Amino acid sequence: MVDSVNSQIDGSIVVAKSLARFGVAHMFGVVGVPVTHLANRAVALGIRFIAFHNEQSAGYAASIYGYLTGRPGLLLTVSGPGCVHGLAGLSNAMVNTWPMVMISGSCDQKDFGRGDFQELDQIEAVKPFSKFSVKAKDIKDIPHCVAQVLDRAVSGRPGGCFLDLPTNVLHQTISESEVEELLKSAESHKSEVSIGHTPKSSQIKQAVSLLRGARKPLIVFGKGAAYARAEGELKKFVESTGIPFLPTPMGKGLLPDTHELAASAARSLAIGQCDVALVVGARLNWLLHFGEPPKWSKDVKFILVDITEEEIQLRKPFLGLVGDAKKVLELINKEIKDDPFCLGKNHLWVEAISKKVKDNVSRMEAQLAKDVVPFNFLTPLRIIRDAILAAGSPAPVLVSEGANTMDVGRAVLVQTEPRTRLDAGTWGTMGVGLGYCIAAAVASPDRLVVAVEGDSGFTFSAIEVEVWSSENMNDKFAHWFGISCQ
Ligand code: ADP
Repeated sequence: MVDSVNSQIDGSIVVAKSLARFGVAHMFGVVGVPVTHLANRAVALGIRFIAFHNEQSAGYAASIYGYLTGRPGLLLTVSGPGCVHGLAGLSNAMVNTWPMVMISGSCDQKDFGRGDFQELDQIEAVKPFSKFSVKAKDIKDIPHCVAQVLDRAVSGRPGGCFLDLPTNVLHQTISESEVEELLKSAESHKSEVSIGHTPKSSQIKQAVSLLRGARKPLIVFGKGAAYARAEGELKKFVESTGIPFLPTPMGKGLLPDTHELAASAARSLAIGQCDVALVVGARLNWLLHFGEPPKWSKDVKFILVDITEEEIQLRKPFLGLVGDAKKVLELINKEIKDDPFCLGKNHLWVEAISKKVKDNVSRMEAQLAKDVVPFNFLTPLRIIRDAILAAGSPAPVLVSEGANTMDVGRAVLVQTEPRTRLDAGTWGTMGVGLGYCIAAAVASPDRLVVAVEGDSGFTFSAIEVEVWSSENMNDKFAHWFGISCQ
């Protein structure tokens, strides 16, 4: 509490001040003892708190907020069970490599081990699901701890971080002037954090020479490229080289699905026959068949661009380029510019892909043209697709969830702008629907949000519809579709 005589403030206020000072604008969560006061103080300092019914959905919201904004998504939870529920969101952020910070209150440290209310060793519990975690052991630690979790979430490969705030620390007091000094010192530490790593120019030259020498080159890009906002450089690259491209599910929209070099409708041919594949911000994991035969040719040479060396070590591509996708593509484009090359429409490889795309698209369109009643998956998805396209630009954010709804939707629904497709992601997480919708409405207020969900997917988080209403998002942003087909 504020004491006007000696300007003492408590730990909750110090946390709120630190969050506001370090640029946090939104926070998702569920309040209760011991973090209600913290949330109220954060709101008083201008942070928008979006109160959910369950930490799981709030955590999913925080994880996708990190992806959409490039800033850590904040999740606030109570101790013990609240923290455990929040792990769903934290782990989702980790696996998808999105920046997120979970902040949980915890029991009074002097009562830990004696069966206190909602007691849990939270630092131990979050270990497998976070890249960094810290407990504030004294009120004086708070500004530095807050700065640390926010920095670590976005530095290098993004991911989830955790801050543990014991009740006794939230109740400690300190003078405002001392907090100001601590905030300044934490701020100066913040600016020392470096995220930059750039490949050597010899590696860039080697990448370009491999692509130049390829008979069947392909570029594959994923949500790491989307996170890096590499769309401008990707467009330059594709248009100056004429190389066909294949987005991963959430990479869709970085370049429009309708682009003449889009190879999505000829995916099997593209990955099965390419001889050099430039893979940008996408892991060679299950989604890309581990980069192995029979889906890929056994002789394909991968050039893998990733923010982390760890990924290069794991996949052992022909050439690994460690760095931010946008920066690396900028260097590649620069290198190409001095000696441009363009495959052109008559190039055999480009021609083969474009023919396959046309055949497959017209086959699909013939199916879509039928009005099947009772609905199969195609008919409602066609109606939704046309409505989304009619919305124009800025294109709506599409949240897609549910096994069949998502799979068929990936083929039918058209993405024309970056970061507008949100789905189950790397972990195949069900239950993300409403959390993602709410976070998208907050992070991209200029866009409509369209949820295309199977009836089972929808019910994982359906109650959060009420949050949508209470946050006045209804008339502005929402379109709902529940699909249940035979
Ligand atoms: P997708 O699901 O679209 O295939 P993944 O989640 O598998 O994508 O891969 C994303 C990759 O992008 C991760 O390996 C991550 O380390 C990487 N990444 C994250 N941020 C960046 C960035 N700024 N530049 C390049 N790569 C990035």
